Amino acid sequence: MTTTSKHPETISLHGGTYRRDESTTAVAVPIYQTTSYQFNSAEHAENLFGLKEFGNIYTRIGNPTTNVLEERVAALEGGVAAVCVSSGQAASAFVVQNLCSTGDNIVASTDLYGGTVNLFNNTLKSMGIEVRYADPKDPESFAKATDKKTRLYYAETLPNPSLRVFPIKEVSDIGRKLGIPLVMDNTACPVICKPIDHGAAIVMHSLTKFIGGHGTTIGGIIVDAGNFDWSIDKERQPNIWQPDASYHGAVWGDAVPVLTGANIPYIIRARVVLLRDLGSAISPTSAWQIIQGLETVTLRMKQHCENAEKVKNFLLKHKKIEKVIYSTLHEGEIGERTKKYFKGGNGALMGIEVKGGKEAGKKFIDSLKLLYHVANIGDARSLAIHPASTTHSQLSEKDLLAAGVTPGYVRLSIGIEHADDIIADIDQALNA
Ligand code: PLP
Repeated sequence: MTTTSKHPETISLHGGTYRRDESTTAVAVPIYQTTSYQFNSAEHAENLFGLKEFGNIYTRIGNPTTNVLEERVAALEGGVAAVCVSSGQAASAFVVQNLCSTGDNIVASTDLYGGTVNLFNNTLKSMGIEVRYADPKDPESFAKATDKKTRLYYAETLPNPSLRVFPIKEVSDIGRKLGIPLVMDNTACPVICKPIDHGAAIVMHSLTKFIGGHGTTIGGIIVDAGNFDWSIDKERQPNIWQPDASYHGAVWGDAVPVLTGANIPYIIRARVVLLRDLGSAISPTSAWQIIQGLETVTLRMKQHCENAEKVKNFLLKHKKIEKVIYSTLHEGEIGERTKKYFKGGNGALMGIEVKGGKEAGKKFIDSLKLLYHVANIGDARSLAIHPASTTHSQLSEKDLLAAGVTPGYVRLSIGIEHADDIIADIDQALNA
């Protein structure tokens, strides 16, 4: 580490081992746009391929620019190591594929991004991996859905459209006793929530959103907390404890702590097996773009959240609004979870129900002048979308309601413009 600071503002600039480029003394992270790396000797090459030592071999498996991003996001999340992949979708697929084979299952929260649901219900299903769903209102439902083939739990910290914060500690406690890691998709709330502090074993992000922050670049990352006890039930995790035929029978659970001095068999396997075989590598230039975003993510999250608070307070009093959906506005235990898990802000995502249903929602969207109408979240700019006529338009009315999408629901991702300008645009569009 170049810094031992625990402050996210410092970590996002200095986290990890990069201080300067050793060959040029450049301070800004260089883009190492190379596919391959000259070995020092035949022995060096043999050692790298045999995992006797770690180093650069080929950019599909690792790259120095990407490595800076991996180390910094790992530090930001309070983890010990990370692997970048080509998109958030690839991260969602990898986190499951890293532990599951045909015949295995995972238990996932019912509150998930639609792209993840498609992956789980169709592509993973076609590979023979079953996804069981549990309602995060009742953490015990995760235990009830578990059997001996359950390899992991999966959830989102702040899922939309419901914007109900997930019971991270409650579910990770259940999993840790059984040897089942909780994977948290923390895309919607970097900096303001650190799932690892509450027991998550693995954290993933779509880097495309708040971390990249400028709507320019697609990427994903998986972070290993480095503190999960994989040995509690060795039969439960065959990919960690059974010999890997593709590495001369290496047992990752035994070999990785010896090789690295860290409890990271999960993330090492993701790199040396999944990136090697499936190849969803991020490009070094994309990693570099995302590093530019990462360096200011704490400032932006602060502004996103402060603006969202102001917009929420304005909308709560607006006569054209039926309802505002926001992390802190849920009643009872679910609203309390925001206080328990979030620090320094309550998120940039918000839902509004416009009076007048679907037509009113569409009219509102068409009347916006400053906010962009896009299928994205986490851009520095404020964004809006009407799910019932776009992202969720294939669903029946019943399924729409089950997903928390009422006909007039509009999703807002509040940006970092001046709050007065965001509010003025929303106001004029509501009154249009
Ligand atoms: N996870 C969440 C919560 C998302 O919102 C998204 C994309 O919207 C993804 C994963 C997938 O990320 P990407 O678009 O980078 O593939």
